[in-house]
Amino acid sequence: MVQAVVGANWGDEGKGKVTDLLAEKSDVVVRFQGGANAGHTIINDFGRFSLHLLPSGVFHQDVVNVIGPGVALNVEALLRELDQLEAGGVPSPRLMISDRAQVLLPYHVDFDKFEEERLGKQSFGSTKSGIAPFYSDKYAKTGLQVCQLYDEEILRERLEIALVKKNALLEHLYHKEPVDLEKMVAYLQGLAETIRPMVADTTLFLHEADRAGKVILLEGQLGTLRDPDHGIYPYTTSSSPLAGFGCIGAGVSPMSLKKIYAVTKAYSSAVGAGPFVSEIFGDAAKELRDRGGDKGEYGATTGRPRSVGWFDAVATRYGVMVQGATEVVLTNLDVLGYLDEIPVCVGYETKEGEIIRNFPATPVLMHCKPVLDTLPGWKQDIRDVKRYEDLPENCKKYVDFIESTCGVPIHMVSNGPKRSDILYR
Ligand code: GDP
Repeated sequence: MVQAVVGANWGDEGKGKVTDLLAEKSDVVVRFQGGANAGHTIINDFGRFSLHLLPSGVFHQDVVNVIGPGVALNVEALLRELDQLEAGGVPSPRLMISDRAQVLLPYHVDFDKFEEERLGKQSFGSTKSGIAPFYSDKYAKTGLQVCQLYDEEILRERLEIALVKKNALLEHLYHKEPVDLEKMVAYLQGLAETIRPMVADTTLFLHEADRAGKVILLEGQLGTLRDPDHGIYPYTTSSSPLAGFGCIGAGVSPMSLKKIYAVTKAYSSAVGAGPFVSEIFGDAAKELRDRGGDKGEYGATTGRPRSVGWFDAVATRYGVMVQGATEVVLTNLDVLGYLDEIPVCVGYETKEGEIIRNFPATPVLMHCKPVLDTLPGWKQDIRDVKRYEDLPENCKKYVDFIESTCGVPIHMVSNGPKRSDILYR
């Protein structure tokens, strides 16, 4: 049976924590898209960790963790993360890397930086980890699969083809040094050896695991609104963070996907550029940002302050719908305990003054203003609460509101950053 944990919004909803929690009852955890650009913060018995590329099942020794073919594999970043786990006292995880995953190359990172510099004010707020150039090459068929690293003839030929274009751009568009073919071949052959014991046909492994009745958890990065097709294009990421794509990026049958957990926060946060209708500014934003998450709302990969805002019913309902969620997991509910009244965004007012309740495409979205309602606050620290029934009435009403907005049940409510801070409803 396959399940997916995905984001309903702009990312950073708390998927890492939820995956870590659900991994307890899973056999396999798979990353199916994205790379080391965004991060998941996980706080458990081993300590506090920021995972970027590793699946969030790595803290469970019984779980097999898989990097699927849909992932942008930055080998150096992966090795660094494994070292961090070791330094943190986490036993060496069981990890498999798809032989069909493609390798994120150093020049992808360079091109990402150079392109953001070239775009200046019109840049997309990239984390500059090479993700957009990587996926461009993948779909232009100038990428490199892990399996190709082990055949020198193929490796050399693939790189030769790619470098003609890369070096022309480097020299004439960005005015930088060209990439040396021989150095790149040697570098990649060295990397290939470091991961050799982990490389496998993970697609076959996952199909067999599924047939044997194992529980397979797909872990998404970012959220619906960063999907290249259904999100706020062009302020999106370059691979699909949708559960539907999870089957492809991981390599499992779509018919096996039985549960889709869409994670959302009790307020909104976003990192990177693009329209964000319920965003707040000034002191109110600073207060929410500093209280949010486990150490304030600052990017796990970049340390950038995240934009914050009130819960956006329009965007979240859309995010949950597009994910095809079977349930919503609500996180960061504890953060709102300081407010007398909690504003929520229940509609958008377009440039023409029309009130809309369905999430529009980007050109309309850019000019939308939030239509706010307020719900009563609960003015209480709820982190110590252990049973859902013991939450303050207004807090439960807030959860009821989000559930009715999303149209799918909420069974899990997270009231703190630690693995144990979870209430079952
Ligand atoms: P992900 O990328 O979706 O895994 O999310 P991130 O890890 O980037 O961001 C979520 C942030 O919220 C992290 O700082 C988590 O430690 C934190 N977090 C998760 N659940 C809760 C919660 O219920 N309460 C609080 N206060 N923080 C939480």
